[in-house]
Amino acid sequence: MSEPYKRVALIGLGLIASSMFWAMRRIGTQTHVSGYARSAETRETARRIGLCDTVCETLPEVVRDADLIVLAVPVGAMGAVAKEMAPYLKPGATVTDVGSVKQTVIDAVGPHLPDTVHFVPGHPMAGTEHSGPESGFDSLFDNRWTLIVPPSGTDEEAVQRLEAYWQGLGAMTERMEIEHHDLVCAVVSHIPHLIAYTMVGVADDLSRVSDQEVIKFSAAGFRDFTRIAASDPTMWRDVFLTNKDATIEMLGRFTEELFALQRAIRTGDGEQLHAYFTRTRAIRRGIL
Ligand code: NAD
Repeated sequence: MSEPYKRVALIGLGLIASSMFWAMRRIGTQTHVSGYARSAETRETARRIGLCDTVCETLPEVVRDADLIVLAVPVGAMGAVAKEMAPYLKPGATVTDVGSVKQTVIDAVGPHLPDTVHFVPGHPMAGTEHSGPESGFDSLFDNRWTLIVPPSGTDEEAVQRLEAYWQGLGAMTERMEIEHHDLVCAVVSHIPHLIAYTMVGVADDLSRVSDQEVIKFSAAGFRDFTRIAASDPTMWRDVFLTNKDATIEMLGRFTEELFALQRAIRTGDGEQLHAYFTRTRAIRRGIL
């Protein structure tokens, strides 16, 4: 059985990092958790709500003694953070991240890390539309998948130790190839967010339907469908800029389907619409 980490450092104290901290506290581990966020305001909030055992003022301070370092900043910031913290990492430590995109993060972070540490990228498939240090909660990862995406040659013991850590936080874990991860996430997470953003954008753009009407009558699909359009703009900007190929490929597929449905509606092809909705309903009902 893998040994638990004695000291964990959380970098970027937002939804994911704060949920990791509360989940560690829920299971009552003796692990010491230190945290760092770039903004003084976030660090102040973290101290006020008791997020982390120690809130550090600098990156060297937060990583210095840590056995596990978790990069929980927006994907576009990971490389710069890795570069700055690299000289201060303890030999034998494991660095992981929780970024929603893997190839770009691995390319941005990996080259900065010394050979004396293990780099085991990960991605918890759990989230809400809320962000910031006060948005976390201890059950966020319960029965949700955390994908572990080790580049080839990663130390097996370090991978197993990280898997055991995530399972301790309530998650199920699965290993995935880097490229496949980015494609799967484009389908199940990135494109749905993009479409939710456009739903709100289009509704806002219409001159014949007022914003008041959208808010007033939003129960009919719009409210459920667009919940995730309230998500953090920085995080999602970075996701699309760093998962370009997979999201563009998937957008192409979605556009084809939409055109096919548009044609079926225009030509009154009820049979095609019915068959399509029957097939998709069966798939959707299989998702709990
Ligand atoms: P968040 O916006 O709640 O928190 C991000 C934190 O990082 C903030 O406290 C911000 O101040 C801090 N930060 C930003 N740039 C920084 C920098 N350069 N140095 C130090 N701190 C910095 O975001 P989140 O939802 O917790 O997302 C964090 C990571 O987790 C992202 O990479 C995201 O892709 C990934 N993720 C998010 C979700 C989700 O649904 N929210 C799910 C899985 C993975």
